Amino acid sequence: MILILKPNPDKEKIEKLMQHIKDRGLSINYSEGARTTILGLLGDTSGIDQADFEVFDIVERVQRVSEPFKQVNRKMHPEDTIIEVAGKKIGAGYFNVFAGPCSVESEQQILEVAERVKAAGASFLRGGAFKPRTSPYSFQGLEADGLKLLLEAKRQTGMPIVTEIMSEKHLDLFADVDIIQLGARNMQNFMLLKELGRSNKPILLKRGLSATMEEFLMAAEYIFAGGNHNVMLCERGIRTFETMIRNNLDISAVPLVKMLTHLPIIIDPSHAAGKREMVAPLSRSAIAAGADGLMIEVHNNPECALCDGAQSLNIPMFDDVMTDIKRRVEFENRELQTRI
Ligand code: PEP
Ligand code: MN
Repeated sequence: MILILKPNPDKEKIEKLMQHIKDRGLSINYSEGARTTILGLLGDTSGIDQADFEVFDIVERVQRVSEPFKQVNRKMHPEDTIIEVAGKKIGAGYFNVFAGPCSVESEQQILEVAERVKAAGASFLRGGAFKPRTSPYSFQGLEADGLKLLLEAKRQTGMPIVTEIMSEKHLDLFADVDIIQLGARNMQNFMLLKELGRSNKPILLKRGLSATMEEFLMAAEYIFAGGNHNVMLCERGIRTFETMIRNNLDISAVPLVKMLTHLPIIIDPSHAAGKREMVAPLSRSAIAAGADGLMIEVHNNPECALCDGAQSLNIPMFDDVMTDIKRRVEFENRELQTRI
């Protein structure tokens, strides 16, 4: 249930109304926008009568939120959320490119890729240290050593970093990571979602391989429910009957997310495509659909990559894609967040 207040409500009256809500055992999601103030009621509102709140003269309207996702719901927070991290803004028209290898493989590799994606205009360096692999015999990532190398790349280049967490036991290792990625395979790891909800780190939440939009948003709701409101969503392709591409990029997820929620949405064309040739056209479609950023896999020597080489752009390809991205972001009247 949400209470939409009349313009410029009296502060004391808001306090009184909030106390009235709390007395009913509910908690409040307070959202003060440029035009409207909304009080979102959290908890079991099934036995509560709307008229109970309509009697307050500062209340314009009471509306039930039928969707199971409440705090991430745009009804609770009509304006786009902007996440501020490492001096950059994510969401609401600010456009970010997260680029780097699927996995951190060596100091030389991550430093070279970091320098090059920074020079091309990426705003965040991505790289996996803990890798969720289908086969236990595949390269599992350099784990804690990989994180150290990423942090070294951050120190040397000044680029903020995003990397995937696979277990809540590792949270301490992520203290200096700028954005924690929760991968597709862990989208419904509820213990991990709860722990990330308790942390104060920005989270990039990837959509599960076969997750419906409602399941995806409920995963984000878990993080919000724990108190962490710095969540960006990432559409990375979903599983369909098609076998000729790795995953189907669900481009309609972009306008749908914008309609249903206030959170930023990033598109990962690399894991959707599975082939580097498809990354540029899918990136173009993401910008046109209104995505808030792109996550692109880039490797200095993709032919020898230990993971996801076929979908990784080489450096010259990434340079070209970035030139194209810059032009299109400008055309859309959006602001590219770069380091340089
Ligand atoms: C990744 O970003 O390298 C990754 C493993 O992605 P996903 O969780 O989307 O498969
Ligand atoms: Mn990958």
